[in-house]
Amino acid sequence: MSASRLSIPQYAMALAHVASLRSEDPYRKVGAAALDFDNRVIGTAYNGLAPGYNPPPGFWDDRDKRQKFMLHAEVNLCSLFRRGEAKIVATTTMPCTACMQTLCAYGIKEIYYREIYHVSDAPEIAALYQVKLEQVSEFPIC
Ligand SMILES: [Zn+2]
Repeated sequence: MSASRLSIPQYAMALAHVASLRSEDPYRKVGAAALDFDNRVIGTAYNGLAPGYNPPPGFWDDRDKRQKFMLHAEVNLCSLFRRGEAKIVATTTMPCTACMQTLCAYGIKEIYYREIYHVSDAPEIAALYQVKLEQVSEFPIC
């Protein structure tokens, strides 16, 4: 890795990583960051429960049961801007199929991820809509 200056994808991924540290999910912490067409930061988000919901004790114990309630980082991220405002999204894990569809609906042009998510159709969706989908594994906070 170059010690001089971060690339824009690395910069976005570092922000996504920091956001993932805020996730309340004990099993899978996912962070995401969005940049606009001038590479300015629109915002960051992470996976978790809807704002204001306080889970009862034991909620986190059953991973399968709680999964449907979790709002993915990308969906939370898209709540921060309108379609066409964001150009770049970085996520710490490759978007799932539903999130990839959502990112396409919001007009995202470039998507960077760190970890591969094998059950996702994201690569196929990206190819169809000509969205750049690339892995970024080297960035300063690992
Ligand atoms: Zn998702």
